[in-house]
Amino acid sequence: MGHKKILKRINKLAPIMAKMTDSELQAQVAIIRGMLANNEDENQILATAFALVREADKRIIGLFPNDEQVLGAITIYYGDIAELKTGEGKTLVATMPLFLRALRTNGVFLVTTNEYLAHRDYLKNHKLFEWLGLTVSDGVADNDEEFLHSEVKKKVYEADIIYTSNSALGFDFLIDGLAANEKGQFLCELNYAILDEVDSILLDQAQTPLLISGAPTIQSNYFIICNSFVLTLEEDIDYEYDEEKRSVWLTERGIENAKDYFSVPEIMNIEHFELFQHIVLALKANFVLKKDRDYIVDGNEIKLLDYKNGRIMKGMNLQAGLQQAVEAFENLPITAETQTISSVTYQNLFRSFKKLSGMTGTANTNKSEFIETYNMTVKKIKTHKKDIRKDYKPERYVTFDAKMEASLKKVLELHKVGRPVLLITGSVDISELYSMHLLNLGIPHNVLNAKNSAKEAMIIKEAGRKGSLTVATAMAGRGTDIVVDSEAVELGGLAVVIGELMSSLRIELQAKGRSGRQGLPGDTYTYESLEDDVIKANVQENIQKYYDRHKNKTDKIRSFKINREFSNAQSKSEDNSYSARFNNLQYDEVQRLQKGFIDEIRSTILKINEVSKLERIFISIAKDTINENFQTKQQISRAELKRYIFDRVDYNFKENMFENQPEMFTSKQAIEFLMKLLGENLQNRKSELDDEEAFIEYIKIAMLKAIDDCWSGQVDSLNQLRMVVAQRASAQRDPVLEYENEARQSYELYRDICQRNILKNVALSLFEIHKGELIVTFP
Ligand code: ADP
Ligand code: MG
Repeated sequence: MGHKKILKRINKLAPIMAKMTDSELQAQVAIIRGMLANNEDENQILATAFALVREADKRIIGLFPNDEQVLGAITIYYGDIAELKTGEGKTLVATMPLFLRALRTNGVFLVTTNEYLAHRDYLKNHKLFEWLGLTVSDGVADNDEEFLHSEVKKKVYEADIIYTSNSALGFDFLIDGLAANEKGQFLCELNYAILDEVDSILLDQAQTPLLISGAPTIQSNYFIICNSFVLTLEEDIDYEYDEEKRSVWLTERGIENAKDYFSVPEIMNIEHFELFQHIVLALKANFVLKKDRDYIVDGNEIKLLDYKNGRIMKGMNLQAGLQQAVEAFENLPITAETQTISSVTYQNLFRSFKKLSGMTGTANTNKSEFIETYNMTVKKIKTHKKDIRKDYKPERYVTFDAKMEASLKKVLELHKVGRPVLLITGSVDISELYSMHLLNLGIPHNVLNAKNSAKEAMIIKEAGRKGSLTVATAMAGRGTDIVVDSEAVELGGLAVVIGELMSSLRIELQAKGRSGRQGLPGDTYTYESLEDDVIKANVQENIQKYYDRHKNKTDKIRSFKINREFSNAQSKSEDNSYSARFNNLQYDEVQRLQKGFIDEIRSTILKINEVSKLERIFISIAKDTINENFQTKQQISRAELKRYIFDRVDYNFKENMFENQPEMFTSKQAIEFLMKLLGENLQNRKSELDDEEAFIEYIKIAMLKAIDDCWSGQVDSLNQLRMVVAQRASAQRDPVLEYENEARQSYELYRDICQRNILKNVALSLFEIHKGELIVTFP
């Protein structure tokens, strides 16, 4: 049945529901449950449930969802994306699909882009759901404590409906996945989620993986020396930099210089991989990452900025050593390097949901990507009241300064008559530049960047007051509705001034959509220049000649051809982000496959409950790794053998055990000797424990520990690999293919290390039984 027809049915039920008493209404819930249990007509169930929630919304929240909101709700219910403009009331829309989904399954989520919004919307809606007999939880409450007790978390995820933020859910997902056993796990099934501001979560934040880091690994001293090396390099001679692709790489000459500088014969091979990686990191820190655009320096700390909205990304560090490379570049103390032990991207996290849906003001521009990647259709829903906002044609200038002057003139003109003005830029540094100019002119204003999301939301909310002037990055306070006061409405409503060419049409529309909400008046003005970042990064060559000839001109650009380069630059920038996201998905897929493999091995080991079988598996792994170490060697001295024994086979080895053995071993003799020692060691351990079950547990723990450690190592290198590979992409190679190859090689490397560690862990760990519990100390 079409959505409009269902809406009709819902509207028909409205007067009936309105006549019911509260308790009659509440009794409807059981009726709907019954209809679900009897597999009654889907449309009838939907109509009844939505009509019920609508009436309950009116009684409990005080708002009655209008027809457009109901249409949005139906779209969302079916797992698609409803494009509903800012201010149309998406918070309320979600109540309908959440309710019915929660009657059908557990694990129903409303996910928003930050903790402030999750908490706010939980507060707005929880009473409604409770009134309808459902439990609701606030997934971001008490989130300050980093690792909450799993019992508390369990409660959160047991609720019928969970309000949370993408990062809170993401970290819980990672923590849950690292739990040592079932007791430590708390996450529910991921059955259904509505992603609020879905484009922000799945598109803008797709590139930043969530990482959980383990104990600091040994401090590398390469960072500072590599930074010094990179400082000696000359652009286009030793290295090349492609601003468009945000990548930098060494030329042949640069590689030669590196070999000299570090006195190594070769830097591109596996032996010097670490050094090479550090050079790549230093290059990136020096030339690609920019202070105040990608990060800020706060005291002695580097804090990562979200490029799109200039917000500090909490709990996120720059990836894999880049943090330290930037610290070296900024002459800050180098923080201890940690190892990533688990990571997930938002794309991957949300693809684990059985059913996913979304709502946002801006999705239609990326319709095909949502279908391709998430199988979600974008449905554009009409605004409840007619949209009367006026968008003025962009004014384009040659230089940044000319644009700045023209845009400030417009801002002052609007400000003078008392219009509230929201001045939007693409990056933090530009917003600060604007702010500086306004300060010089003595004009009071608010600046939004790198603040916390609650404060940001408050400032944005107030940005619609008469006379207010707010300077913000494109996405600042996203998800917050700007309330325009009546005086300001009289004056023409909120004016949005966009001060920069935005990196995508979607973000541009998002900015414009701040104005003219709920049928109120409003207008938008756009100012761009040939010196804007998006132009520089995407179409520099095309405009260079024109630019050189006209850079002293301060009037608007009239050339049709040059005007076209602006939209050209924007679509190029969109394409770049799209392919970056697409590549990322494929990287994710490689990691997912390898993880699947590891999980299988893990569960196989966990399932074995026969000593003999477990021993056999262990011995065969041990034999593999011993073979690998010795089979190519001609002669092995006692000393060499002894070192190996103490490292991997038996702490209790005594010199006299060499009795009757040759001075020099052949490989075959060595392998036999080691296997014999190992067999004895294993039997000693078994009799020392004197408990078959404990012995089984011991071997399992020791083997799993080796597997988990190596998987963590592999996750870390996969993350580094993404970066290194992206670096090389510019050399006309296919980054995904390179990634796949190297990921496989690295996986094989870790498999070897893993086998070695299994041997070591089983053969050398110390153990005791304390109060009936086996305690193992690994070597
Ligand atoms: P969005 O998320 O779509 O930008 P919000 O959920 O923040 O919008 O709601 C914007 C404003 O509209 C809120 O002040 C809300 O109370 C109001 N609102 C939402 N739905 C209705 C409705 N059906 N009738 C009246 N006001 C509504
Ligand atoms: Mg909203």
